[in-house]
Amino acid sequence: MNTQPAQSIAANFQQLWTQTMRPGLLNNLVDLITRASGRERTNFAVRAPAVDEPIVEVPACTQEDVILALNRARKAQQEWAESPVRERKQIVLRLHDLILQRQETMLDLLQMETGKARRDALEEVLDVAQACRHYAFRAESYLQPKWRKGALPLLTRTWELRHPIGVVGFISPWNYPLTLTLSDAIPAMLAGNAVVVKPDSQAPLAALLGLQWLREAGLPGDVLQVVTGPGADLAKPLIAGVDYICFTGSTTTGRSIARQAGENLIGCSLELGGKNPMLVLHDADIDRAVHGALRGCFANAGQLCISCERLFLQDPVYDRFLHQFIKRTSNLKIGPEKNFDVGMGSLISRGQLDKVDAHVRDAVRKGAVILAGGRARPDLGPFFYEPTILARVTQEMRVWQEETFGPVVSVCPFGDIEEALRMANDSPFGLNASIWTRDVRQGQRLAVRMRCGTVNINGAYAAAWGSVDAPMGGMKASGIGRRHGVEGFARFTESQTIAQQNLIPVGPWPFVKAGFYARVMTAALRLLRHIPGLR
Ligand code: NAD
Repeated sequence: MNTQPAQSIAANFQQLWTQTMRPGLLNNLVDLITRASGRERTNFAVRAPAVDEPIVEVPACTQEDVILALNRARKAQQEWAESPVRERKQIVLRLHDLILQRQETMLDLLQMETGKARRDALEEVLDVAQACRHYAFRAESYLQPKWRKGALPLLTRTWELRHPIGVVGFISPWNYPLTLTLSDAIPAMLAGNAVVVKPDSQAPLAALLGLQWLREAGLPGDVLQVVTGPGADLAKPLIAGVDYICFTGSTTTGRSIARQAGENLIGCSLELGGKNPMLVLHDADIDRAVHGALRGCFANAGQLCISCERLFLQDPVYDRFLHQFIKRTSNLKIGPEKNFDVGMGSLISRGQLDKVDAHVRDAVRKGAVILAGGRARPDLGPFFYEPTILARVTQEMRVWQEETFGPVVSVCPFGDIEEALRMANDSPFGLNASIWTRDVRQGQRLAVRMRCGTVNINGAYAAAWGSVDAPMGGMKASGIGRRHGVEGFARFTESQTIAQQNLIPVGPWPFVKAGFYARVMTAALRLLRHIPGLR
C-alpha cells in the first residue's frame, strides 16, 4: 500500500494538474454557466477531494438565473425540434468522437473534481460514448410515426407520433457527474428537447466540459443550459419551469422532487439509492467472483448506486471466497495517482468519510468484525478510506439497513438458496443485484425472483448498466422510471395518437337502426377474436 506522506502527495498532485489542465480551461468552463447580468452574486469553491484544495470558484446561481436559463432553453427548443434528426445525430456522433479523442483531459478533470480513481473516471467516458452511439443510431426510428391497429379494421387508419416534450430539467449527483448528466441528456436532446442541467455543487465541471464539447460538435448555443448552486434553492424554480424532470440522487431528495413534479403535473424519472446484494453460489467460479466482487464493492470507492453492499456466500464456498477476497481487498492499491493501476480513489468529502466511518463504528460497537480495512487513510489524503469487509453484521446495524455509499461490504453466509433470496430481497431498495454461478440456468431462474431493476449473472453491475439497449432503473425505493433503451428515450417525448376514420363512423351509423348496428358490431367483434393479424 502507498505510504507516501500526504504533503508530498498533495504537492505532486497539484503539479500534475497544472501540467495537464490547459491554461484558462477552468475559467472558460465557468463562463458557460447561465447567469443573469448586472447583479452582485456569491461564488462557491469547487474543491479537489484528493487534497481538499479549491480548484475554481463557481457562481451560486439564483432563481433569476434559472428563469433566464429556462427562457433561453425554451426559445431555442422550437428551432432545435424542427432541425432534421439526421443533423442532431451528426452532432451527437461528433461528441462521441471528441470524448474518445480527448479522454485524457476529461479523465484528469473527473479525477480532480471527484477524487475518483482513473479507471472509474474511464467508465464515465466510455459510458457517454456508448450512450451517444446507441441513441444517435436509433433516434430516427424511435421518432418515426408508427402505424397502430385502428378501431375498425380497414376503416380506421391510426398512427402514433412522438413529439419532443419541450424543456427537460436534470438534477444530477456528484458521484458520476459526467455520465449522470450527459448520458441522460443525449437522448433528451436527440428527441428534440432543450435541456437545463443542475449538476451537484461538488462536481459541476465535467458536465460543463461536456457542454463545451457539445457546442464544438455543433449544438446550437442555447439548447443546453447549466446552472450551478444548491439544489434546495434551485430545484423549485427549475421544476416549475420545465416539462419533465429527470433526477438522479438520494431517495430522500427524490421524494421531494416527486412531490414538486406532482404539484406541477409534469412527468419525472427518479434514479435513487440502492443496497445491492451479491449472491455467490456453491458452484461459482471463485476467481471470477472475487474479481467481480472487488469491482462490485469498491468501484468508485463504493460511491456507486449499483455497487454491492451486501455479499451473500453459500456455505461450501464461504471460506475459500473470503480468503481470496480479503487478500485482494487488502492489496488493492489506493491513492490519488493519475494511472490505471490504482484500484480505488478518495471519497468525495468530509461528510461522506464521516458517514462511512460512522457506519463501520456502529457495526463494530454492535458486534460486527472487520475482516479488511476499517479505517481512514489521512496519510493518502484527507478523505481516503480503506476498502472494508465486515462480518457478523446483524439487522440492527446501520450498515445493514441504510445505504452506506462507500467502500464497505457486509458478508453473510447462507445455506439454502431460498434463505439467500429472502435476505437479498429484504430491503426497501431494489436497484441492482449480482448472482455468481456456473449453472447459468439456475442463475436465470433466481434472477427473475430478485426484486431489483437490474440483475447481473456472473457480473457485478457493468453488464446490465452497459446494455444500453435495455432499460435500467430501480424497483421499490430505488426509483421510478427507467433510463436506457427505448423507455429511456420515450420518457422525453409526448405521444400523440392520430386516427382517421373512413366511410362509416365508429358508433351508430346514420340511416341504420341502432339495433342493427348493435348486431353487426357484436358479430364483428366475435369474428375479430379469431382473425390473426386483425385481433
Ligand atoms: P442528493 O439527493 O443529496 O443530491 C443529488 C442532487 O440533488 C444534487 O444536484 C443536489 O444539489 C440536489 N439536491 C439536494 N438537495 C435537494 C433538494 N432538497 N431539492 C432538490 N434538489 C436537491 O444525492 P447525493 O448524496 O449527491 O448522491 C448520492 C445518492 O444518489 C445515493 O443515494 C445514490 O445511490 C444515488 N444515486 C442513484 C443513481 C441511480 O442511477 N439510481 C445514480 C447515482 C447516484
